[in-house]
Amino acid sequence: MAKALLLICDGLGDRPIAELGNKTPLEAASKPNLDRLAAEGECGIMDPIAPGIRAGSDTSHLAILGYDPYTYYTGRGPFEAAGIGMDVKEGDIAFRCNFTTVDDQMTIIDRRAGRINSGTEQLAAAVNGLVIDGVEVIFKESVAHRGALILRAAGLGAEITDTDPHHEGEKVLACEAIDANDAASAKTAKVVNEFVRKSYELLKDHPVNVERIKQGLQPANIILPRGAGIGPKMRSFKEEYNLNATCVAETGLINGVARYVGMKIVEVDGATGGTDSNLVEMAEAIVKELKSTDFVLCNVKGADVGGHDGAPQVKLDMIAKLDEMVGYLLANLPEDAYIVLTADHSTPCSIKDHSGDPVPIVFWGDGVRTDSCKQFDERSTAMGGINRIRGIDVMKIATQLMNTAEKFGA
Ligand SMILES: [Zn+2]
Repeated sequence: MAKALLLICDGLGDRPIAELGNKTPLEAASKPNLDRLAAEGECGIMDPIAPGIRAGSDTSHLAILGYDPYTYYTGRGPFEAAGIGMDVKEGDIAFRCNFTTVDDQMTIIDRRAGRINSGTEQLAAAVNGLVIDGVEVIFKESVAHRGALILRAAGLGAEITDTDPHHEGEKVLACEAIDANDAASAKTAKVVNEFVRKSYELLKDHPVNVERIKQGLQPANIILPRGAGIGPKMRSFKEEYNLNATCVAETGLINGVARYVGMKIVEVDGATGGTDSNLVEMAEAIVKELKSTDFVLCNVKGADVGGHDGAPQVKLDMIAKLDEMVGYLLANLPEDAYIVLTADHSTPCSIKDHSGDPVPIVFWGDGVRTDSCKQFDERSTAMGGINRIRGIDVMKIATQLMNTAEKFGA
């Protein structure tokens, strides 16, 4: 059976930039390997969700993997929690959280608790396993001041407000149901408020914080949940496509989406989630995985960072690294492997955020209808045989090329 790599370059798409002679970074860069894929493959442009919709990385990855985000995306919480290895179940209410510093009036002193980087495991243990109003509390620390919370019980809702006011000097907000008649969400809100209160009670005199105060550091004396979402019911990637899949990614959010649909997660030491990532090491992991599995999803983060920073040079440097990565892949992937190369959204340097512009895409491998596109960039690929598609179409096109798609009709 054919194999495939879906390589998603985060935020790679851009707009024309005056200092690059009104070219996009992809148009301005030298990238012989990316261009080889375009020249030999079938090209097009893709709206990750729909034309003009500004996609997040999570909603875009869901769509590209074939899961309509309008059905399955309930908030960032479930995928953040899954991304740090928590088992989110259907109906769980999941949140991303910050360890935060407050005073005894519940005023925020430091939203990130002095960017605490040790002792959070012990702090997490103090709140994990609580039961509040019959609701099971599962909490796990993540990197630095971050963590995730799951509330587990029947009959909870996720249509609630955040507790984090997002600004120092303001008070912790009371969590409320968005619709006062929504009893399930009102119940969740009550439990969240109780959790926040208990976290302060249990953490303020915790030995980790006593020691921090002694050292002149901000104590991590409260936990503030936000981004609530209810664990959606989703078919696994294997059920959906009958393909065994591995995810090689750099961020918890993408690992969370992949883990939620049952993909194996492979972490690469040199993958930092920044522009200093070792992409060849990621490519080596992909090659190794494709020896034993059918499908690899890879997300490379760096280009998005350059876009958010408004730094075309950072994007150009990342494109050079991506080109080196693709060169390695072309030399080392199994003969029958397909490559789908695209981005999850555009992050134009001029906008410093995600835009609704479509992104280039190429399908490369045996049997594709090679078109006249010679270059992998936003405007060249718009002339290709794939024309303009949506993220939700990508897996359908990929699996029919792989000859694993089922026939519709006789
Ligand atoms: Zn971004």
